[in-house]
Amino acid sequence: MLMPDTRPGRALAQTSEVSARDERRRVLIAGGGVAALETLLALRELAGRRVRLMLLSPEREFLLRAVTVAEAFERAEARSYDLEDIVGGDEHGQLVRDSLRGVDPSARIAITSTGGRIGYDVLVVAIGAITRRPLAGTLTFCGRDDVPALRRLLDDLAAGIARSVAFALPSERMWPLPAYELALMTAAYVREQGATAEVWLLTPEEEPLELFGPSASRAIEAMLKEHGVRLRTSSAPARVRGRALALAGGGELYVDRVVTLPQLEAPRLPGLPHDAHGFVPVDAHGRVRGLDGVYAAGDVTAFPLKQGGLAAQQADCVAEAIAADLGAPVTPSPFKPVLRGLLMTGGAPLYLRAEPQRLPRRTTVANEAIPLHRSVREPSAASDQPLWWPPAKLAGRYLAPFLATARPQPLSSQLLADRVAVPGRSASESEFADALELALLLADCDARWGDYAAALDALDAAEALQGALPPSYEAKRRDWLAAERAP
Ligand SMILES: Cc1cc2nc3c(=O)[nH]c(=O)nc-3n(C[C@H](O)[C@H](O)[C@H](O)COP(=O)(O)OP(=O)(O)OC[C@H]3O[C@@H](n4cnc5c(N)ncnc54)[C@H](O)[C@@H]3O)c2cc1C
Repeated sequence: MLMPDTRPGRALAQTSEVSARDERRRVLIAGGGVAALETLLALRELAGRRVRLMLLSPEREFLLRAVTVAEAFERAEARSYDLEDIVGGDEHGQLVRDSLRGVDPSARIAITSTGGRIGYDVLVVAIGAITRRPLAGTLTFCGRDDVPALRRLLDDLAAGIARSVAFALPSERMWPLPAYELALMTAAYVREQGATAEVWLLTPEEEPLELFGPSASRAIEAMLKEHGVRLRTSSAPARVRGRALALAGGGELYVDRVVTLPQLEAPRLPGLPHDAHGFVPVDAHGRVRGLDGVYAAGDVTAFPLKQGGLAAQQADCVAEAIAADLGAPVTPSPFKPVLRGLLMTGGAPLYLRAEPQRLPRRTTVANEAIPLHRSVREPSAASDQPLWWPPAKLAGRYLAPFLATARPQPLSSQLLADRVAVPGRSASESEFADALELALLLADCDARWGDYAAALDALDAAEALQGALPPSYEAKRRDWLAAERAP
């Protein structure tokens, strides 16, 4: 075991003293969001007394951002949870209020924003992403800070000051649900207020909520129609000039207001590898390529789809890999993305679950070299009944049951579980196939939109997962590189 760092570091002097007498491995988790908390709870369960957990977070609280979408409509209020309560005090872990500023991986030291130096045996980077506003002249809904602006927009729609609004998803790589939720709840609100404003939903997808498969597309299409939301697929917003919303690939839509979702980037921290947008490449167990004892999970990783449920699944893989390395009786499973989405509609919620990589691909992006897993397992489901339990908006195996009761509890009997049992895949199939196929699918989507830089990033993320790309995607990489460099 590495000895703790003894150099001065205001925040950590106490920690170092404790760990000098301590046989447990020091696991430092940077972040205070979904991936960080899921890692903490999973490690507490899987590795027990083998680890001494430390959470490094600039925030005092964890806010359930997914629910802030409903706040302007007064349909729900996002709860926040005290991180001290979750971390649980000295016996279970320690909360350090600071930020990760860099890493010295060879010395296994994390450097913090206040100049602290924290020695670790294992570091988990779960610091999320940075939000960027994709289009000037629009309201970008990122979370609670944007609720007042959304409220003003709703007032304008109700008063007839604005007579139309478009909710526009800028890219297929984004978690699309908030755009659908905002459109549906806005339509319900406008109707309740006796107003007649038009509500549009624009999406680059060919079918609405395409990642969730045909049953979800049919269900959401019917729901949008019932709420009077006008749907325009294969349409990404490009520019706003006055009332004209120009669409990528041509065409315009005339609306009074436009609401979008944020584009994401990640901070480029010294000592950590990153792609062109700052995202950290990881393998299928969340190990940061090329660095011993460093893992990453959640939005900060290069995996191309950013979602809370996926962040939690990545965190579970990381926790299993760490626990197994420390001798715990755990067989680490690789990242196999399962999307679980709880859509708030302004009425009864809709539950969606899918393994997008198992759905038949569109003919336009079909790839002969990647065998799709057409097993007996149902790859997608949409229902007004909960498809997992507890039926949380943030479907983390450990975090969802924890937040459902908001108190420490014996976790093993309380894990998140899907409600319809599905038969497993045969053992001969590649362990890494699921995450790889989803990354490749998203790369194809980007290339279809001519966003070759994003497509190449997705290929890099796919390559990081298992070390090599399928040969047909090596060929695509060459083509996309050439297309990106073309004047
Ligand atoms: C409007 C909106 C609605 C959404 N709805 C849903 C939904 O319904 N379901 C769903 O699954 N997902 C949803 N998402 C996506 C989901 O919020 C993210 O995918 C998820 O939060 C990612 O988790 P994370 O832990 O990687 O990052 P975050 O949850 O963003 O957490 C990152 C944490 O790291 C901390 N941090 C930042 N920098 C540092 C640093 N340098 N050092 C230490 N700590 C740092 C931050 O303070 C934060 O606590 C939504 C996103 C948005 C924007």
